[in-house]
Amino acid sequence: MSDARVSRVTGALVEAEPIAGVFVHELARVGRKGLLGEVIRVEGERATLQVYEETAGLELGEPIEPLGRGLTAQLGPGLLGTILDGIGRPLARLAEMSGDFIAPGVVASTLDPVRRFSFVPSLEAGCRVAQGDVLGRIEERTGMMLPVVVPPGVAGTIAELVPGEFNVVDVIGKLEDGAPLRLAHEWPVRRPRPVSRRLPPDRPLLTGQRIFDFLFPVAEGGSVSVPGGFGTGKTVIEQSLAKYVDADIVIFVGCGERGNEIADVLEELPRLSDPRTGGSLLDRTIMVVNTSNMPVAAREASIYLGMTLGEYYRDLGLRVAVMADSLSRWAEALREIGSRLQEMPGEEGYPTYLANRLSKVYERTGRVMCLGTPEREGSLTFIGAISPPGGDFSEPVTQAALRVVGNLWALDPALAHQRQFPAVDWEASFSLYAELLMPWFAREGGSDWPRIRGETLSVLHRERETREIASLVGAEALQDRDRLVLETGRLVREVVIGQNAFHPHDASSSVEKTHRLASLVLRFFHEAEGAVESGVPFDRLRRERVWEGLVSLRTAAPEDSEALAEAVRTAIDDMGADR
Ligand code: ADP
Ligand code: MG
Repeated sequence: MSDARVSRVTGALVEAEPIAGVFVHELARVGRKGLLGEVIRVEGERATLQVYEETAGLELGEPIEPLGRGLTAQLGPGLLGTILDGIGRPLARLAEMSGDFIAPGVVASTLDPVRRFSFVPSLEAGCRVAQGDVLGRIEERTGMMLPVVVPPGVAGTIAELVPGEFNVVDVIGKLEDGAPLRLAHEWPVRRPRPVSRRLPPDRPLLTGQRIFDFLFPVAEGGSVSVPGGFGTGKTVIEQSLAKYVDADIVIFVGCGERGNEIADVLEELPRLSDPRTGGSLLDRTIMVVNTSNMPVAAREASIYLGMTLGEYYRDLGLRVAVMADSLSRWAEALREIGSRLQEMPGEEGYPTYLANRLSKVYERTGRVMCLGTPEREGSLTFIGAISPPGGDFSEPVTQAALRVVGNLWALDPALAHQRQFPAVDWEASFSLYAELLMPWFAREGGSDWPRIRGETLSVLHRERETREIASLVGAEALQDRDRLVLETGRLVREVVIGQNAFHPHDASSSVEKTHRLASLVLRFFHEAEGAVESGVPFDRLRRERVWEGLVSLRTAAPEDSEALAEAVRTAIDDMGADR
């Protein structure tokens, strides 16, 4: 028993005195109800703790019991398909234990301690093993086999390893030094998991969103920032990615946003099927939820938990996407905790270490060679939404993210207002991976991919310039060539980069479909350009059928697409027929 007592309570923070021998990030049980807290400052005999649970009702003099360990994630079979709170407690089990309102101090392990998994070893007694080595496989779900690996920091010679049905606390084998082997292990959430070496980001992580895959592609292992003011479509983008991103595993961290948005995703995922496995999309997903009404300290932790879960699956040799909505709410939690600690505030009241913390989160991304044998690659891609107050990108969180990310998908309220969705500002957005990824797209999407990408960007750019000119001199004064640029720009926006997240055939776009739409629009552009240059008045070009065809091709069922594309080609060839 410790004789530490609560000496002060301010919001999520609690002071403990007298206290000795505790370390920063050590967990403790706080008060008679045993709320979970974490030491965040130690000064002599006094420690300050952030408490992950509601502190209302906590009184001075209540006991504090340090636990001697930091916040860890429990990693092992049975995680997929679960919904966790910010400190890794499964919501379903919390509800069973304490009803709709989570009772304070409830302890619930992340992994189900009872459920059994069938384990098939791939190594035997006498094998020398070290961290990351695959010991065997378990069946996570029917038909879904996942490796069981030696946890980081463990090495030795196997004394025994047995096949069978085990739960996550059972011992499945032993090393010669007596160390037990299990299906699960724990890892401190704030510490990046080790890897063998980093690989170049030269493979795309396909999102199914044309504007991203075509214009601002993200690499496997990349890092993306999605800043946008209220209503610009951040949540819809994060949700579309959760559904359609071409990753093996998706970790969705709902961080400080409204609970009903999370509920929407939860309702939809089980109904969508995963094209790779045929199972439900929920089976590749873990949700970490810490909505706006939950304690801020747990919100701060939720991002680290999400990244640790992501690294675990990366280390199994899988491609992982971690999504967060939104990092601004996470930064606000840091600000609230910092101000209660009476730290010297930095810009706009955020702590001076905000940029550093944020870059440490982003640094956990990457495509890597995993530790251990057999050799395998894994990747962790992170896509973080940011909600700058008033949509002003000069604020500290957006700026801090900008300095470290490989992709910026900047959302523009003017585009959202015109209902041009995804409302991505193509002038401000960038992908530092684009050049490295072009060989892949040229191989898999079409050898002309880099060229049509460049031309599409150039059309969008020229359209904006031409519109500025038109607003000065009047649209009537424009030459036919300029009017064609305006028209093509509209087609690009309507057909190529515009995408309706709620249309069954438009919500996700294959590389093939993206290529087809973009090349048809450019084919129109070049044909029309040739006609105009040879003297056909722009107004005489019969563009209606081209428009109709392209617009219906965008939302067409896959089986109708070939015929529709052929009709569009014919319409383009016939445009100037009656010149
Ligand atoms: P934010 O999270 O940035 O506040 P939301 O993601 O909630 O904004 O988007 C606001 C609204 O914009 C949505 O409810 C939806 O009506 C519309 N919207 C956003 N993206 C799309 C899209 N790709 N397709 C259709 N509608 C969209
Ligand atoms: Mg939102």
